[in-house]
Amino acid sequence: MSEAALRAHSEAGGRGRDEAPEIVVVGGGFAGCVAAIALAGEGRKVALIESSPTIPDLFRAEKLAGDQLPLLEELGLLDDFKAASTPVEEFVNIRGRHIVDISRQLQLNMLYRDMIEVLRKRVPAQVAIRYDRVEDIVTGEDGQRVTLAGGETIETRLVVLATGHGEALRRKLGLQRVRAHSRPTVSVAFTLTPPADGFRFQSLTAYGERQGDRVDYISLFPIGADLRANLFLFSDIEDRRLKAIDERGMPALFELLPGLRPWIGDCGWVGDFASFPVELCKVENVVRPGLVVIGDAFRTSCPAVGTGLSCALVDVVCLRELVGRWFATPGMGAEKIAAFYGAPRKMARDFSTHALAFRRRKAVTDESRAGEFRQTAYFLARGLRDRLRRFAS
Ligand SMILES: Cc1cc2nc3c(=O)[nH]c(=O)nc-3n(C[C@H](O)[C@H](O)[C@H](O)COP(=O)(O)OP(=O)(O)OC[C@H]3O[C@@H](n4cnc5c(N)ncnc54)[C@H](O)[C@@H]3O)c2cc1C
Repeated sequence: MSEAALRAHSEAGGRGRDEAPEIVVVGGGFAGCVAAIALAGEGRKVALIESSPTIPDLFRAEKLAGDQLPLLEELGLLDDFKAASTPVEEFVNIRGRHIVDISRQLQLNMLYRDMIEVLRKRVPAQVAIRYDRVEDIVTGEDGQRVTLAGGETIETRLVVLATGHGEALRRKLGLQRVRAHSRPTVSVAFTLTPPADGFRFQSLTAYGERQGDRVDYISLFPIGADLRANLFLFSDIEDRRLKAIDERGMPALFELLPGLRPWIGDCGWVGDFASFPVELCKVENVVRPGLVVIGDAFRTSCPAVGTGLSCALVDVVCLRELVGRWFATPGMGAEKIAAFYGAPRKMARDFSTHALAFRRRKAVTDESRAGEFRQTAYFLARGLRDRLRRFAS
């Protein structure tokens, strides 16, 4: 949506702006937009406050797959994403020169800013969207006060904090961020253009070839006519191999993952290299009257595992299930809020995301002989399973 259209939407929400909102959602990224849509769908009066009037070109998730698709369907949003994305169903998975297996599942590919555009278009007109920075939030059992950068204050019953990696408000609220790991996962993205005769695959995943090089995998998938690459390393942003890819493009990429050359050797290098380090963090002492923290503001997940959007969607589904009961009685005490963090579905999703991230990091970074043996055995077993499956069908 253009800036003008976004402002028009904001004006259309003017009616909601005059009335005190029951819920203020702070942050209009993936989690905040989905929350605003779902809570308005429950009949609540919602205001959405986002600091950036234009959709920022953030490097975040660029694909939707797995449990994200049924979750989007549950929230009535799947068709919007299907219409705006490039779908793929077949994945060739390689390690070095060898094909590990060929897997199938629906994956919807699109840039993050396009995901946010889809969502902002779906925010109903009765939601008052404000483009302003929230400077302060004061919470209590009987009401919350949200202060905007211009000094205006909004009184509400519930605040949903969906500010992603933003630290300022969390710090003001005294929400302590705890690191789960000392080293970040570095994600890299860039675009390739197709050779004259097109790509030889729908989607390709190439796993790290040498134990100890800390490369998890690179995923290559189409967005429109181009091929998008997401590379994940358990390293740090100063890694000289990343600088080399940024400066020299394909030759440096093939030094890191030689097995890629036969598959994409004749692609064109666009040069839109972007990298982003993600620390695995979670907030502690999060149960506060009148405040719910969702998405990356609550916990960042390892981007290599690809479940950050799942966590955000499960957060919203759990919140949607609770709000009716919360608003049926006075107050918004901590006992109500605690039910959100204790929701079995949320706890299960958060736990498996966290466990998967640690398993994955350990498997890739364990340089011992046993670690190398385990990785080799893992890929051999996958390949064998695939061949047996194909033989049986
Ligand atoms: C490089 C990378 C790759 C990833 N890949 C995947 C993947 O393949 N699959 C997957 O499932 N997940 C992936 N993730 C994780 C996923 O992208 C995130 O979990 C998800 O985008 C989090 O959304 P969010 O709304 O919580 O945060 P964000 O999208 O960061 O949104 C936060 C919003 O809050 C706004 N804001 C901040 N402070 C204020 C304030 N004071 N006032 C008003 N507004 C404010 C910001 O402007 C922003 O719009 C990846 C993450 C990264 C970083």
